Amino acid sequence: AARRVRRKDGRRRGRVIALKEILKQVDSLLAGTNADGSEREWIACEALGIKRGALPLVREVSEEQAKKMIDYARERATGRPLWQVFGYAEFCGMRIEVGEGVLCPRPETEELVERAAAYCGPGVKALDMCTGSGCIAIALAKTGADVTASDISERALEIAARNAEANGAKVRFLLSDIWENIDGRFDVIVSNPPYIPTEQIASLDREVRDFEPHCALDGGEDGLKFYREIAKGLAAHLEEGGILLVEMGAEQGEALKAMFAPFGEVKIVKDIEGKDRIAAVRICGKN
Ligand code: GLN
Repeated sequence: AARRVRRKDGRRRGRVIALKEILKQVDSLLAGTNADGSEREWIACEALGIKRGALPLVREVSEEQAKKMIDYARERATGRPLWQVFGYAEFCGMRIEVGEGVLCPRPETEELVERAAAYCGPGVKALDMCTGSGCIAIALAKTGADVTASDISERALEIAARNAEANGAKVRFLLSDIWENIDGRFDVIVSNPPYIPTEQIASLDREVRDFEPHCALDGGEDGLKFYREIAKGLAAHLEEGGILLVEMGAEQGEALKAMFAPFGEVKIVKDIEGKDRIAAVRICGKN
């Protein structure tokens, strides 16, 4: 009967281990981190190569799979964010490569994309400033819009270009410090610029503070530096009747409303957690 459990390739079936046991070890490794309850499951699914929904059906794992889970958890225990441990994140259903050179896409930013996508489509010219991993630009390119994306970091642009290629998206990438190398006008301008006030950087979770690029987080003394820079170029680069959509910190709604009021109608939109997250500035069309 023992022969019957040989695998098709003739090798003996290795030892199996209860998933529960391994998850206990994973939990104790994750104890010193800011991991939420879902990360143990992501680790298991990544090691097993299965979707989240299939996990409840798994009882046992191979030694090799168990080792993979423990290795991921050990790496995560250093404070490294889970998506950097895996090397990619999911964003708007796409696989986006991430690393220390770019901010890992956040779920809030999917909400920004959803709003912006409503204004995009074939023939629409869109610009994504501070593109980082390229996630916003690539998602918008899927609508058929003509998308340009810029960043000040060469390292980020390399990752962004790989992400565009891997996701079959055509995006024009530009090395540019805000407006520096940007020509022409756009119908839709989107940005998730750095917006954390400098003095708050030190008190961020170590996952963010020690592993994500500060140039993607630090928004200057009041966190608003990059919105001011963006505002300076709007008259020259946003079409009449166009729209600017920026992600922002939950405390920045009033300031952004005042800053962008001279350009048109400003709407502050809450994220799924009920926090102010997006400022939408509709440039008034000429009559
Ligand atoms: N939302 C990000 C964070 O909390 C910050 C993103 C940004 O500065 N653009 O880490």
